[in-house]
Amino acid sequence: MSDSYDVIVIGAGPAGYAAAIRCAQLGLNTACIDKEIGKDGKPTLGGTCLNWGCIPSKALLDASHKYMEATEHFEELGIKTGKVSMDVKKMIARKDEVVAGLTGGIGGLFKGNGVTQLSGHGKLLAGRKVQYTDHNGKASELAAEHVILAPGSVPVNIPPAPLSGTQIVDSTGALDFDSVPKTLGVIGAGVIGLELGSVWARLGSKVVVLEALDEFLPMADKRIARDAKKVLEGQGLDIRLGARVTGAEATGSGVNVTFDDKDGAQKLTVDRLIVAVGRRPYTEGLLAPDCGVNLDERGYLFVNEYCATDAPKVYAVGDVVRGPMLAHKGSEEGVMVAERIAGHKPMVNYDCIPNVIYTHPEIAWVGKTEEQLKADGEEFNVGTFPFAASGRALAANDTTGMVKVIADAKTDRIIGMHVFGPQASEMIAQAVIGMEFDASAEDFGLTMFAHPTLSEAVREAALGVGGNAIHMMNRKKR
Ligand code: FAD
Ligand code: AMP
Repeated sequence: MSDSYDVIVIGAGPAGYAAAIRCAQLGLNTACIDKEIGKDGKPTLGGTCLNWGCIPSKALLDASHKYMEATEHFEELGIKTGKVSMDVKKMIARKDEVVAGLTGGIGGLFKGNGVTQLSGHGKLLAGRKVQYTDHNGKASELAAEHVILAPGSVPVNIPPAPLSGTQIVDSTGALDFDSVPKTLGVIGAGVIGLELGSVWARLGSKVVVLEALDEFLPMADKRIARDAKKVLEGQGLDIRLGARVTGAEATGSGVNVTFDDKDGAQKLTVDRLIVAVGRRPYTEGLLAPDCGVNLDERGYLFVNEYCATDAPKVYAVGDVVRGPMLAHKGSEEGVMVAERIAGHKPMVNYDCIPNVIYTHPEIAWVGKTEEQLKADGEEFNVGTFPFAASGRALAANDTTGMVKVIADAKTDRIIGMHVFGPQASEMIAQAVIGMEFDASAEDFGLTMFAHPTLSEAVREAALGVGGNAIHMMNRKKR
């Protein structure tokens, strides 16, 4: 191990590993320090996303979706099966295999690109020195021309619901249930609560979601949030809004939960409880007091639009800095910083970050909602198209939801797209590309899409902005 590098990255989640790989590709002598220990007890790479977040949750969402299809919808297609049952341990083991494959893959990319991988804890000292402590407690001091901090985030714990082994768990614990709980409580109807609640509801849990806010998914399109709530309730999620949890106690046989709603104090007993009330930036043991990096008032590392901290040549990226806690946002920041260190001038377009909730149907959006645009006093036109009118969605027996395209009233430039439907996570990329290239709704309408595809709904919604949709009556007459 050398003790001097062009770049030291602390954290190997999507923000840190992308930064390290890009630095190495650009010819910078780079080391990446990460302290994470995987489920197998060995050092791992990929951070929350690969080990405890995006990937394992999607492995469980995809498996449970297939189970739900088999138990509830195969018959509609003429497919007869015997009794379908779920081997939860096998589902979890497969999820672990997917995680192992991908985390190992990051190790391969580090080796292939020449990134020095250091397993252990990193702490930024003054003058871009970094204290590295390996898993045996052996400390050494390294020096770097540039330092990139990417320590990520951890789940928020709330005092009324302290975690308790296997009964009251956070999102990480909810990825490893060994059986399907008969009854499951979820605190928080945010992205993580809805995704993990969906997994276990699909497998047969009776799920109650307790959400303190009165509004469901306030950041999403209002109509889509309303439709999504109904559909998720139809899938067995009992979503209670205006329900603030005040206490939770594991009793051995179950969890006694108390909460306040508009009718006063309430009680609920469930087999297990998932606490999914958000995540907070993680900076424990990261900064020496004289290192020059400052936090903002909410505990995030303070950075400018290029992710530079207050300390010269020290950058911070990913969940630990302002902006949505999303893997792709962190990776973009990591790559931007690497390229800026190498003398290029990229920037991250924070107005063009896709958001996805991987329920079924999926909810995805980019840009502003109608409600936000109205509040900002902006004029716009809207086109919508329901999947019930899509040939491909009908063929696939998956017709719930719609696409909404929003375009600026004066320029016709697309300023938002909101999708509730099958593969919304894939379709949203079309709007992201369109918005990055300043496309108008008319441009989308002039583009040929393969038939029959779900994506045709995007084109039809874009045509609808000008009152020109072919496969439905237009809201706006020409
Ligand atoms: P992290 O992934 O948290 O990685 C930080 C790494 O730094 C960790 O390995 C940590 O151990 C290490 N570290 C911290 N401090 C130090 C230190 N001092 N020294 C050494 N190492 C250190 N996002 C999406 O975009 N799509 C999704 O579908 C999605 N699903 C999610 C599902 C769940 C259940 C959860 C919990 C999260 C999900 N997320 C999703 C969010 C996503 O995981 C995060 O946005 C992403 O992991 C942030 O990346 P990061 O690199 O900033 O931090
Ligand atoms: P997110 O930040 O998107 O992961 O969502 C977390 C959700 O948890 C938010 O919608 C919060 O309103 C909700 N929440 C936080 N604390 C409580 C609580 N004590 N009881 C119920 N819901 C809560």
